Amino acid sequence: MATSCKPRIWVACLHCYNDGSLVGQWVDCTDAADVTLAQLHGGAGGPYTGCEEVWCLDHENIPVPGEMGLAEAAEWGEVHEEVGETLWPALFAWVESGNYTSVGRCLPSTLDFEERYCGRDRT
Ligand SMILES: [Zn+2]
Repeated sequence: MATSCKPRIWVACLHCYNDGSLVGQWVDCTDAADVTLAQLHGGAGGPYTGCEEVWCLDHENIPVPGEMGLAEAAEWGEVHEEVGETLWPALFAWVESGNYTSVGRCLPSTLDFEERYCGRDRT
C-alpha cells in the first residue's frame, strides 16, 4: 500500500491539553474545517465545559514547521488538492527551500509553483 502524502494535522482540545490530558486526533487538512468538539472528545456527548479552543499541535506532510490553527491547516488542504498528490513532493521541496513565493503568511502560491515546475521561461 502506497503511503499517502496527504497533509494531516493532530488537532487537540486546548482546554484539556492545559489540564494535562491529550484529547485530540489526526485529521486530514481537507477535513480541518469540520472538526467538532464532540469528535475530538470521542463523541461522548458533552457539554465540554471550558472546551472551546482547538489547535493543531502537530502535523505531517506540511512543509512548514510549528503549530497552526485550523483555518491555516484547511488552507494547506486546499493547496494540496490544487497541486495534487503527484506534484506535492515537489511543492514540499520548493517551500522547504525557503525560496518560494507565498500568499498570506506562509502558504505557497500554487500559480507560481506551477509556472516554475513546468519550467516556463518567465523573462
Ligand atoms: Zn476538551
